[in-house]
Amino acid sequence: MYVRSFRLGFAALGGAAIVATTLGMAGDRPPVASIPTPSGWRQHDMARPRPAVVEPAGWSVGVPAPADAVVLFDGRDLAVWESASGGPAEWSVADGAFVVTPGKGAIRTRESFGDAQIHLEWASPAPPRGRGQDRGNSGLFLMGSFELQILDTYKAETYADGMAGAIYGQYPPLFNATKPPGEWQAYDVAFRAPRFDPSGALREPARITAFLNGVLVQDNEPPVGGTSWLEAVAYEPGATTGPIELQDHGHPVRFRNIWVRKLPERVPATEAERREPKIVAVPAADLDALAGTYGQADGVQLQLTRQDDHLLLKLPFRATPLRIVPVAPLHFVLPYTDGDVTFEKDDAGKPTLVNLRIGDGSPRPFPRVEE
Ligand code: MG
Repeated sequence: MYVRSFRLGFAALGGAAIVATTLGMAGDRPPVASIPTPSGWRQHDMARPRPAVVEPAGWSVGVPAPADAVVLFDGRDLAVWESASGGPAEWSVADGAFVVTPGKGAIRTRESFGDAQIHLEWASPAPPRGRGQDRGNSGLFLMGSFELQILDTYKAETYADGMAGAIYGQYPPLFNATKPPGEWQAYDVAFRAPRFDPSGALREPARITAFLNGVLVQDNEPPVGGTSWLEAVAYEPGATTGPIELQDHGHPVRFRNIWVRKLPERVPATEAERREPKIVAVPAADLDALAGTYGQADGVQLQLTRQDDHLLLKLPFRATPLRIVPVAPLHFVLPYTDGDVTFEKDDAGKPTLVNLRIGDGSPRPFPRVEE
């Protein structure tokens, strides 16, 4: 079984020699600890369980590009693509789609992308031909390095980590959600590029989330390196962007409706924006004087009680009280949330009102309820 799949894969890449005579023999497997995958499975292990088959609804086939998308194919031409070996992309375009032209090699976008949302539609050759990896094979390469497998695995067998929806050679799809040959299928991908220290050391691996025909097949998985065949490869130090590349694996797979949206980096608060509460000491007697019930006698009420050096705020729609800390004698804030509680007093120094503000709301007054 193992040897057969190896031969098929090798033949599919155009190799002539069959050199798998020792593969699959008992005792030739290295200890799991030496396998650089989190799962412990060796690449292409035929014993690895296949995912469950799911009949997809295909809700994402034919979705139009959002306004901010970079359209990579709109049915007309391959102007934004080039051959991966240089020069123009030479795959053929017809009837609003383009097709792998075997022997012309991979094509890639001229533009590079990092963090991105990607939509791509593809169709396996119909009628189907070949078996295993030699059946409708292509691939969507993110940053030119991480392959989401494109393969005809509709009622067709191959190793789990090489099925359509796989991060090739590393992560099988969670489900086999493929559609029959000839039918349009859709990948929707969220890709987070790897992060590196200034020295080039890997700080965060890439992350891939992918839906195939509307079914989640990769859930925020971290590739162990660029996808590869037969040997693990490491991350390319410092590489955080790259082209989107489509594989020529010798099969006339068709493509259409391809677009990508660049994703923003989440911006952490600067030191000045952090606004950690500068807590002041308020005497316990003053806190006790502020404690009490505020609101309408027959409406929404806030309960304030003292706890040690701060107050607890009980809101009617929350089971547990919130800690609020003093930043001035009559001004308290929620430590976790952008919200504050300010007290007003009368001329006699007696609290008469609290104003509660949370986020974008206007301060809301709650008069003190006399007890
Ligand atoms: Mg492939």
